[in-house]
Amino acid sequence: MRLTRYFLPVLKETPAEAQIVSHRFMLRAGMIKQSSAGIYSWLPLGFKVLKRIEQIVHEEQIRAGHIPMLMPTLQSADLWRESGRYDDYGEEMLRITDRHGRDMLYGPTNEELITDIFRSYVTSYKDLPLTLYHIQWKFRDEIRPRFGVMRGREFYMKDGYNFDLTKEAALHAYNRHLVSYLRTYERLGLQAIPMRADSGPIGGEDTHEFLVLAETGESEVFYDSAVTDLTFGDREIDYDSVEQCQGVMEEFTSKYARTDETHDEALFNQIPEERRRTARGIEVGQIFYFGTKYSEPMNAVVTNDKGERVPVHMGSHGIGVSRLVGAIIEASHDDKGIIWPEGVTPFHCGIVNLKQGDAEADAACEDVYKALTAAGLEPLYDDREERAGAKFATMDLIGLPWRITVGPRGLKNGVVELTCRRTGESEELAPELAVARVVEIYKGL
Ligand code: ATP
Ligand code: MG
Repeated sequence: MRLTRYFLPVLKETPAEAQIVSHRFMLRAGMIKQSSAGIYSWLPLGFKVLKRIEQIVHEEQIRAGHIPMLMPTLQSADLWRESGRYDDYGEEMLRITDRHGRDMLYGPTNEELITDIFRSYVTSYKDLPLTLYHIQWKFRDEIRPRFGVMRGREFYMKDGYNFDLTKEAALHAYNRHLVSYLRTYERLGLQAIPMRADSGPIGGEDTHEFLVLAETGESEVFYDSAVTDLTFGDREIDYDSVEQCQGVMEEFTSKYARTDETHDEALFNQIPEERRRTARGIEVGQIFYFGTKYSEPMNAVVTNDKGERVPVHMGSHGIGVSRLVGAIIEASHDDKGIIWPEGVTPFHCGIVNLKQGDAEADAACEDVYKALTAAGLEPLYDDREERAGAKFATMDLIGLPWRITVGPRGLKNGVVELTCRRTGESEELAPELAVARVVEIYKGL
């Protein structure tokens, strides 16, 4: 993409309404525009990051054997009356009446809708296990939407639902989700710690939230610092193996890590003092096992191998896809702007032309641009007639992890400059070598 042909409405001033750094940078970098309280348009740069995150979430869900689909945003109130949640959910639910006077709602979550789909088609244990998921907009009429996309009213969420014959099988699905979430967050460049949590309006017995530690997080968390040493890394996992998934679950949840809702002071005090931590965190996902809470009232039953009709065991599992855009920025920025992890960056590499209009510099930039594109990467070429300082400021703000700077002086010596956004370190290299280096960095991502 050439910047002169793109739509990147960068702001010079810091918007007064933004209280936290991710919100400020998302507005300044032209990623989002508020359309009303807690509701945003995703401008091209923000949309690209959102789609990159969504793609990674899809890949890891499919790898775990979960099946993608798409359910609507608007739902009929009748299904929610069956589960009893139409009255219970409260004011966060946006209720709508259609022209025929039928009660509808903008889905805050999808347990009822998916249970209805399941019971319409599945009648035998032979069709289990089954996990269906989608990535779709949700609406919760939050009383205090704030922090930009972190606590929106309309937000983008991956929500998945498992259907199993027994509690044991459903707990395997729970563990499988935990593993797939660990992998997902690591690919997004984040450390998200599973913490024992409270189930809220979803209900259920077993639940963990995934938290990214950040000063601006809304949740208060308590943990043993040893949990921050755990990483999933690139280990192989067989998602069908009950033992392997359970092993990972135990490894990542046996150390003390809880949100304030489930915090237990006595247990916490058993951790050696130097490892006790109290901090704040951003909730980027949650997994639930809730047994037959929905299948019983909604009559989602299957016949088991003895011919008996039994309600299925279920769980639901969510990732806050749009909130993650903000969470990644909270975890990765400096005072000049965003620093995107390679896995989610909107463009792989910036190209800055120090002397637009100089025949040699223009030609070298074109060559670098073509070579990166031919290698399957998306560069963003700043081809504006602007001062170098302004070009660098834009690149730093929008946070592309790598930048190739091309100018007449360097070209005289046959070099361009390759700069790492995170460290600020630069290296002079022949243009082909700079391109090769960038291509190498993204290999396998
Ligand atoms: P919170 O406690 O932050 O209100 P929740 O526990 O009600 O969230 P879940 O039902 O667990 O939310 O939804 C799954 C994920 O969706 C959350 O972990 C979070 O990342 C994201 N999410 C929930 N509410 C919002 C919101 N208002 N804006 C953006 N993302 C949200
Ligand atoms: Mg939650």
